[in-house]
Amino acid sequence: MTSPEPEQPTGGPLRVAVIGSGPAGVYAADALTRQRRVPVRVDVIDRLPTPYGLVRYGVAPDHIKIKGVARALRRVLEHPDVRFVGGVEFGTDLTRADLARTHHAVVYATGASVDRRMDVPGEDLPGSVAATDFVNWYCGHPDTELERFVLDTEDVVVVGAGNVALDVARILAKTADELRHTDIPQPVLETLAASRVRTVHLLARRGPLQAKFTAPELRDLLALPGADVVVDPRQVDIDPTAVGGGATPELGEVARAARTNLKLLREHASRERRGLPRTVRMHFWARPKEVLGQDRVNGVRVESTRLDADGRLTGTGETTDIPAGMVLRSVGYAGVPLPGVPFDPRGRTVPQEGGRVMDADGEVVRGDYVAGWIKRGATGVIGTNKSDAAATVRSLLEDAEELCSTAPAPVSLEEVLDERGIAHSDYEDWLRIDTAEADQAMELDRGERVKLHGWEAYRRVIGE
Ligand SMILES: Cc1cc2nc3c(=O)[nH]c(=O)nc-3n(C[C@H](O)[C@H](O)[C@H](O)COP(=O)(O)OP(=O)(O)OC[C@H]3O[C@@H](n4cnc5c(N)ncnc54)[C@H](O)[C@@H]3O)c2cc1C
Repeated sequence: MTSPEPEQPTGGPLRVAVIGSGPAGVYAADALTRQRRVPVRVDVIDRLPTPYGLVRYGVAPDHIKIKGVARALRRVLEHPDVRFVGGVEFGTDLTRADLARTHHAVVYATGASVDRRMDVPGEDLPGSVAATDFVNWYCGHPDTELERFVLDTEDVVVVGAGNVALDVARILAKTADELRHTDIPQPVLETLAASRVRTVHLLARRGPLQAKFTAPELRDLLALPGADVVVDPRQVDIDPTAVGGGATPELGEVARAARTNLKLLREHASRERRGLPRTVRMHFWARPKEVLGQDRVNGVRVESTRLDADGRLTGTGETTDIPAGMVLRSVGYAGVPLPGVPFDPRGRTVPQEGGRVMDADGEVVRGDYVAGWIKRGATGVIGTNKSDAAATVRSLLEDAEELCSTAPAPVSLEEVLDERGIAHSDYEDWLRIDTAEADQAMELDRGERVKLHGWEAYRRVIGE
């Protein structure tokens, strides 16, 4: 008996696997299904049974309006030509070779989930952790254990001057009452309620004009009802022509965003302290030299900095020790390599041109595309991923004819997962989790949703 000829493509839909159901992955599915020229079927595959990536596990729980973007993403996953496949990790459960049997094209949208390091002595002492861990904890990411944080120290240092650093400082400085109507898992809320933290030190290596945080985040911090935010007036009394005692960026040339930040900080610095129970202290021109402690963190040695004549950051040699029982580093996020997919270890991204993945020889990897943070690094807001994913999809659709003409006849994803014995979840399972979280909120009389916590809780609801 001769084996049957592989089925020739019959002009059926273009099958696209999108790896990652964060904003970039979902927006890629959206761009694919919005057009009419090429019929498509899209599988959005995520290692978690819950979609939306950092919208669910990154955006701060008290930013309820921003989290509302999930409603728009939900409509995409409910499109008849889109399917959500949860609990399947690319690289372990599923390989690129598997996907070559099941799909004509793959869009990697796996984000940038690993924190960057400060590279200072003492960084790995117990009590010195990545802000990523802390964010995962309060967002209820199933990879982080509930017991991960106890908050039994009065002083915390947060290193970084981006929006994530401000999020982390704000959550630490808020009272449990202020967080009650968020989706924070109940046991995490209880730990926050029992927190002994009184002072949060925010360390920014550069000055207020160079800080990466944006005005809305800064406003939120400065308006905390239960915490005094202390800004040293000398650090924000900036001569427009001489910043940091060296460089001379004209205030007029500095981005409008930075000017707004400076205005907010200046106004705030001139205000009286209110004697509130908690304090957030902003330290500009301060970089960590060493995390101090023997068996665990007991402080951070900080060196003052300035910009030299060429605008480069330089240490002044003057150091101060800030006592602290916990250090959270928030100095950036980085992508992780995906097995079988080219990776640029310097940029920590997948090399690409116009969203087409490029190999080490600068050749296009046929059928492979990339979108979101793993494509361009950890920058931009949620909306940035929409235009970014749309650009990638434009390239993919330009290649559609060629992809369909030569790709092998697709085998179904289920067949491959079944062959492997990989249990997976679907969109209905996610809706079960979604409902269980809404029910929990009702029972606890807390907002719209209270997140379940941990793999076990998800499995119970899904009934695996
Ligand atoms: C702490 C934090 C707070 C933020 N707050 C805001 C905010 O308030 N407003 C705003 O506009 N932006 C905010 N951002 C930025 C925003 O979240 C990002 O722009 C956006 O999430 C990036 O989208 P993405 O799809 O590339 O990555 P992600 O959102 O990270 O999604 C990646 C997805 O891929 C999945 N995945 C990863 N590896 C695999 C694998 N091997 N196999 C299968 N699936 C995999 C992950 O589970 C995840 O679901 C925040 C970012 C962070 C880190």
